[in-house]
Amino acid sequence: MDRRSFNKIVASGALNGTLVGTLAGSATPAAAKPRYNGPNVVLIRFGGGVRRRETIDPDHTYAPFLRHVLAKRGVLIPNVTIAQLDGVDTSHAEGTLNILTGRYLAYRDTGSKFFEDRLEPTQPTLFEYLRSEFDIPFHQALLVNGEDRPQEEFFTYGVHRHYGIKHRSELLSLHRFKLFKFASILKEGKASETELVEAQKQYDKLIAVDKREFAPRQSAKLEEFWANWREHYGDSGFKNPRGDRLLTALALRAISELQPRLLMINYQDPDYVHWGNASHYTRAIAIIDEGISQLVKATDADPFYRGRTVFVITPDCGRDNNPLLNIDFQHHFNTRSAHETWALVAGPGIERAKILDKPIDQSAITKTVAAVMGFHAREAEGLAISEIFT
Ligand SMILES: [Zn+2]
Repeated sequence: MDRRSFNKIVASGALNGTLVGTLAGSATPAAAKPRYNGPNVVLIRFGGGVRRRETIDPDHTYAPFLRHVLAKRGVLIPNVTIAQLDGVDTSHAEGTLNILTGRYLAYRDTGSKFFEDRLEPTQPTLFEYLRSEFDIPFHQALLVNGEDRPQEEFFTYGVHRHYGIKHRSELLSLHRFKLFKFASILKEGKASETELVEAQKQYDKLIAVDKREFAPRQSAKLEEFWANWREHYGDSGFKNPRGDRLLTALALRAISELQPRLLMINYQDPDYVHWGNASHYTRAIAIIDEGISQLVKATDADPFYRGRTVFVITPDCGRDNNPLLNIDFQHHFNTRSAHETWALVAGPGIERAKILDKPIDQSAITKTVAAVMGFHAREAEGLAISEIFT
């Protein structure tokens, strides 16, 4: 279905849960797959690129909850590195896809404007592996994305022939909310003529960012989620938290309303340091740390998550570490420290208060999540980090 015919459906009021559910959920017979009984996983991209010094160095951290509280409940792996390979860029989309696929360079540029990296995975993602093996609905494999990174809407599935769209995750982002909101305004038809014209304009703009056929549609559960969100925050778009705090708010709400089995949160705000102000960077780290603290508290308090949730926290990439450079904190120059990340894994089945002092490759994260959840990440190259398990 192209955008025009989709808009016709929206305008005719035929867009409802049934249609969305049919389109989104009918690809695989659910009964053919076993129910999932393993632990829930909250996978946190400590993103926007961070250095070890400001995150896991106990004397210099801006993430005290992560380093001093959560680390005691799990295994800290201080020495994760992004491999030095030809063509590997130490950046956000790339690092995130390394984590999601367990492969380097497993993406293709889907062709967009210069500097707007829009990479699409060419290997299966964790979401696809999980949903292809277990009977888990879309909304329980969830990706929470930042508001100004529409390119990350492309991370929900790869184009690998055995996996792909029918095993994709659902997405929570302001982009998705706005799609829902403007589609609803158009469907309701209660707004003034001017507002309706504006809503159509905004809707078309959102659609132009992501032209994939499935893109405007969300499963019935997600429609319900957004309806609740809209009721809570109204249509203004101004009341909801912004930046990485918004991601925390979306994730917390998802935990209570959607009960995701695999929830990935793509934090990103430390990246504002590209524009030169180091305090934006350290502040953003502290905000992510607060978010992690809230998420741990929420999962500790919720019977669906308590005692059966594993947190996997790891950055997408490092950052430059050279005080002699004019512009510090960059990550596109292939410096050693831009390749240096870390990981923290905590939860049932994982050792406690342990530091695993061993070099680990970033691609190992994928197989490690697979081992925690008990599925096969067949195309991933790394090995699960076996030393973390009890
Ligand atoms: Zn960046």
